[in-house]
Amino acid sequence: MEIKHRICFSPKHHSNACKKFLKLGIKIEEGGDGKIVQMKYFDIYESDLLWPKVEKILIAAGIGAITTWTEFTNEEIAVAERVLIWPGHLWGYPMPDLDGRWINISFNAGKECSVCGIGREQVAPIHMKGEPKLGENDFMGINWTFDLFSRPEVIEIMFREEISGFKEMQAIHYESMEPLKTVKQLRLTHELPGGIIDDNLTKDYPACGHVKYIGLSRGMYRFSKDTFNEEPDLVRSQQWFGSGRQASQLVLASSAFVDLYLRSKWKGLCLAPVELL
Ligand SMILES: [Zn+2]
Repeated sequence: MEIKHRICFSPKHHSNACKKFLKLGIKIEEGGDGKIVQMKYFDIYESDLLWPKVEKILIAAGIGAITTWTEFTNEEIAVAERVLIWPGHLWGYPMPDLDGRWINISFNAGKECSVCGIGREQVAPIHMKGEPKLGENDFMGINWTFDLFSRPEVIEIMFREEISGFKEMQAIHYESMEPLKTVKQLRLTHELPGGIIDDNLTKDYPACGHVKYIGLSRGMYRFSKDTFNEEPDLVRSQQWFGSGRQASQLVLASSAFVDLYLRSKWKGLCLAPVELL
């Protein structure tokens, strides 16, 4: 397990810091669209001997655009009892348009919390702009809702291997209303009764009174051991995560699913072991 940081900065506003990074021998990449503000970035592991020096420069220069995440080795993922999964490959948005009407078509519009988004529930197939571009991926997600989709032949294998906790659902072309051929949705059918241990999580308290969590960037999510005794291979967390009106639930997979995923050399998901206490 390694903590990784992506440092993003404007070389114009932070020319001094930029020079110091270069002097340390850091390879800096071009980032952003380059039209409005030219941005640069680099990635660095917290275990890197240069990290303490980089951190000092960041604090002195007031550079705050730092994204932090945790990387796990394949061995750590392979031996975990439960693994958090989420789409690493995102394609498109729920349609019919980018104006929010998709909520009426595929979700329980008006029933979710208007302040924080908790309670959004899918009630009909998701519509998309066209056949998604999967590249070499077998799984994908869509922006905003992060629902999971996969190639039909992959879903066939999952059924054959008796992976439980989901049903397949067609995704629909938003104009022709025909089912898409490239992917089907993996619609999760179970929600955990609770079980999360939240002492390493940051709570968000929106004005509506709900409690949401901020996604964890360092280390592992923790659940009590007996939470998963009776649960299927794929489940959603009871708790919701996200900021503002964005709210989604974690998806947790059993070792049987992870074993099949790794054995089949499937691509398109991010996997992070969960700690059971
Ligand atoms: Zn709310």
